[in-house]
Amino acid sequence: MPGRIIDGKALSQSIKEKIKDKALLFEKTNGRKIGLAVIKVGNNPASEVYVKNKILACEATGIRSFSYNVPAVVKQQEIIDLIMQLNEADDVDGILVQLPLPDGIDSKKVLAAISPEKDADGFHVINAGSLMIGLPCTVACTPAGIIELIKSTGTDIAGKHAVVIGRSNIVGKPVAMLLLAENATVTICHSKTANLPEITRQADILVAAVGKKEFVRGSWIKPGAVVIDVGMNRENGKLFGDVAFGEAMETASFVTPVPGGVGPMTVTMLLDNTVKAAFRRCSEN
Ligand code: NAP
Repeated sequence: MPGRIIDGKALSQSIKEKIKDKALLFEKTNGRKIGLAVIKVGNNPASEVYVKNKILACEATGIRSFSYNVPAVVKQQEIIDLIMQLNEADDVDGILVQLPLPDGIDSKKVLAAISPEKDADGFHVINAGSLMIGLPCTVACTPAGIIELIKSTGTDIAGKHAVVIGRSNIVGKPVAMLLLAENATVTICHSKTANLPEITRQADILVAAVGKKEFVRGSWIKPGAVVIDVGMNRENGKLFGDVAFGEAMETASFVTPVPGGVGPMTVTMLLDNTVKAAFRRCSEN
């Protein structure tokens, strides 16, 4: 039986409706809009698109965005100084720095300057570490979106074998931690993993976060598996996932498309993190 598409656009739209309501409630209660500061350094074309989409998503949900376009030649300390100012700004609830940063700027140092309470991307070491040991934290957006996508299929994650291909700090590791927290049995694979297709064929839930066009073939997928394709690989202006979509649809029960799967959820979870940060800050004051 052919698989079904997990519609990330539709799911993200329904979550955005709830975010809109919460943003309005916040504004009525606090006399100001929820605020997200977006810092872009340099002119990376992909970053331009991502930042534009994030700002548009803010506008659509009633969140105020503060946009900072910093020239690539700027010194690292100047970016850190800007972040420090935003950490103190009352009307800013979330801060994000669009990655990658230009050569010569240490993204670890820049991200560490963001107050963990305003860390809208969930990349700060305090948030990443809290996720690891099961403390409340801001969860990285793409992994948080992946869990929502899996749950939207009605799949009970507990007891399932989840295989994650990729161990990056922004996708692979945090999604593995979230799946573990949902009581899946988790295997993390990477470029040194031996016999990868043998492992992926055991996966009830397969998350591909590799960055290689159509890397996962249909024959690597267990019949009936839920397949989440995180990959965004651009070729001649077209976007491809890490999974051979047509082949996957013949074997899996559910597959996320690229585009229209994980991507829209990433932006939506960023808004969700910002809203949560805003309510948390106001309850603390
Ligand atoms: P990354 O930092 O480059 O990590 C890629 C991972 O894949 C690494 O852990 C690497 O292993 C592993 N890998 C590479 N070749 C492999 C192979 N032959 N076999 C098994 N594993 C292999 O990438 P990322 O930031 O996690 O992103 C992954 C993909 O997701 C990219 O296409 C990116 O554009 C996309 N992405 C999409 C969204 C979205 O919102 N849709 C968000 C973030 C990222 P090693 O650790 O051993 O090198």
